[in-house]
Amino acid sequence: MSARILVVDDQAANVRLLEARLQAEYFDVCTASDGFEAIEVARNQQPDLILLDVMMPRMDGYETCAKLKADPSTRHIPVVMVTALDQREDRIRGLESGADDFLTKPIDDVALFARVRSLLRLKTLLDELRYRESNAAFAELHADINEEQAEGYQAVIVSADPRAAKRYATALPNSVTPSCYTDPAKAVAAARAGTDLLIVDLTAADYDGLRLCARVRSDAETRQLPILAVVSPDDVAKAVRALDLGVNDIIHRPVDAGELNARARTQLRRKRYADRLRASLDQSLEMAVTDPLTGLHNRRYISSRLRQALAGANNGGAPVSVLIADIDHFKSINDLYGHEAGDHVLQGFAKRMHAALRALDLAARYGGEEFLVVMPGAGMAEAQIAAERLRAEVADTPFLLEDGTDIAVTVSIGLAQAQVGETFESLLRRADVALYAAKHDGRNQVQAAEASAA
Ligand code: GH3
Ligand code: MG
Ligand code: MG
Repeated sequence: MSARILVVDDQAANVRLLEARLQAEYFDVCTASDGFEAIEVARNQQPDLILLDVMMPRMDGYETCAKLKADPSTRHIPVVMVTALDQREDRIRGLESGADDFLTKPIDDVALFARVRSLLRLKTLLDELRYRESNAAFAELHADINEEQAEGYQAVIVSADPRAAKRYATALPNSVTPSCYTDPAKAVAAARAGTDLLIVDLTAADYDGLRLCARVRSDAETRQLPILAVVSPDDVAKAVRALDLGVNDIIHRPVDAGELNARARTQLRRKRYADRLRASLDQSLEMAVTDPLTGLHNRRYISSRLRQALAGANNGGAPVSVLIADIDHFKSINDLYGHEAGDHVLQGFAKRMHAALRALDLAARYGGEEFLVVMPGAGMAEAQIAAERLRAEVADTPFLLEDGTDIAVTVSIGLAQAQVGETFESLLRRADVALYAAKHDGRNQVQAAEASAA
């Protein structure tokens, strides 16, 4: 699907002109003739990018932009201000109102499409993160995204001209600690060591700043790092190449301190937003695979890992064994000491599992007081040793409650080694039968499954 772009201008001729140029590049275009309509269309049609005229009657572009950026339903849509003026005050005012970029009329096609592609790439990334995010967490995330926190940020500045680098450093917001480099290799190393913003001066002739940008973009550690490039206003080709390489924003030389400050803040705000999306995504991924009480893997996760391991084993890979461990008379632990004590025993049990198992074994809480361990690479003999170690680890030392009470706990364990071509269900059924036999024969013991007839 092609990206949808909203064009906002009070002059019908301007709208038609931009519309035609964008449609020629296969963009899907919607239009609005003033700020009020723009907000409405943005809310309802959720465009991927907004090209917003600054000079409009009733509500100007700055106010419209500020309103779009204040509304959670339109805040994520990049806004490019289109203006006839090229005054620094106007640019800074636009950036202050939350605009993501600037274009000056008459709009140069090459610059327009490079900017549009760059912002659409950014939006695709954020959309994907937003999509994977749960709605609740997302709302929470939005709650404080606009508040300006003066956290400690780091910036790496690279320029062949150390005096220019120094000037850029001075222009940055107070929350940013800059470090300046003339050597691109040292700058890359500093960026990899951890920074929040990279400013690259591309104006020196004998200095391959573009290569440095490409390097930073292709490195896993710095792929998401915002890059702000300094170019000469007449070098449109370089600006376009920089944007196509993944540079996030361009600023013209001579660099205006106020504008650099505003653009740096935009980049840091976006980075903070993306970092938060990513962190909360990591957290929800972790929650999706972890049992909250014990910190072990959950049933869903271990099941999918076991299916993978079985597929590997069936393709002639290493053996796989499983054990199912079920705490003996757990119900009476709850009955005698209370449910909280029961939970405490489950947590202690999980710790002892870690002590008894190898690092590559995968342990999960499979049900209430039932645990499943997948042992990749282990045949029956090794599985038997691990199971017996776990049984002893539990039985030999009572579990100690916080109030000093000792609880004697035992566990019964059923073992099975996967046979060639065996399914997940069949393997678990055999381990379960062995567990049942262990219970039946008096508990606190390990039993191994018979090979099935199949
Ligand atoms: P057996 O030796 O035959 O396994 O007996 P058992 O009592 O361990 O087995 P049963 O399946 O009858 O009881 C399991 C109990 O575990 C019942 C349930 O209330 C308790 N249980 C399940 N999940 C939790 C939990 O998260 N916390 C606590 N405290 N108890 C739980
Ligand atoms: Mg039990
Ligand atoms: Mg049970």
